[in-house]
Amino acid sequence: MIELKGQAVSLHIQNEILHTLQEWKIKGIALPQLTVILVGEDPASEVYVGHKVKMCEKLGFQSKVLRLNENTQAHELKSVIQTLNENVDIDGILVQLPLPKHLNEREILETISPLKDVDCLTQTNIGAMVVGGSVIQPCTPSGIIEIFKFYQISLQGKKVAVIGRSLIVGTPLVHLLSQQNATVTLYHSKSENLFDEIKQFDIVCVAVGRSEYFKPTDFKKDCILIDVGIHRSADHQLTGDIKKFQSDDAEFELQNSWVKAKTPVPGGVGPTTIAMLMKNTISAAKKRRNI
Ligand code: NAD
Repeated sequence: MIELKGQAVSLHIQNEILHTLQEWKIKGIALPQLTVILVGEDPASEVYVGHKVKMCEKLGFQSKVLRLNENTQAHELKSVIQTLNENVDIDGILVQLPLPKHLNEREILETISPLKDVDCLTQTNIGAMVVGGSVIQPCTPSGIIEIFKFYQISLQGKKVAVIGRSLIVGTPLVHLLSQQNATVTLYHSKSENLFDEIKQFDIVCVAVGRSEYFKPTDFKKDCILIDVGIHRSADHQLTGDIKKFQSDDAEFELQNSWVKAKTPVPGGVGPTTIAMLMKNTISAAKKRRNI
């Protein structure tokens, strides 16, 4: 089994970004600026925001985290976003999800100016992505496309399954895969006979958000698997949506000979997602500032 290492893909994207920023420095163009809004104290969100800030520091972006109280009301949060929309120095605004239950995520996300919506979550940017040719693309799905490109896995004419239809992963991924000329089938929690169905696909992207829900042998022999899921177990291990057998498991050898290639968890889809966020911030800056 070949490991499709997201870290290598991420480094490749980071190098492209550094090259662009080098040119900006020479031309005296202000470096990109990203602001992340974090409402409440969700520990997983803290970790994700920390990774994003670290990546900003590594690449030389200016970044700011606005921490708002768990009880922040919708009008207060919208007012913060409006202020950021109007701030000419800010290129990207990201509202870390999930928001506390009392806030309507859709209503809040629609407050972000599409020009600064670097997570590609506004209806305008989602629509532009479906039409094709948009400069901002949803981070996790576009990172997956970058993994395929980096490892020279052709999608043209391939039967690809996407399992999970969330607005941040599964649904946009279907569109991006289709734009790469794959023949895509979308499965979700109401799909019938899922375990029989998935055996027919050369490539499967799994984003169901259930720890180790699938085994490698649930899929077709020699398939390519993208595991989007990320879960922290009680003993602080990170697991994916697909079970990973360890070397002392009886099924370890079978897993390795069954699957042709797979993204590891951690170190697969996660690092490419953050790299694409940085790329989107550059793209947003270029468009808004006419660079
Ligand atoms: P979600 O809960 O919003 O959506 C899950 C989807 O899976 C739903 O559409 C649901 O219909 C489907 N589903 C659930 N159970 C199913 C089943 N038994 N059979 C078929 N379909 C089923 O989750 P999400 O936001 O799309 O995230 C999915 C996973 O990916 C989570 O583990 C999340 O943490 C992870 N994730 C990782 C990254 C990353 O950068 N690595 C980014 C986003 C999400």
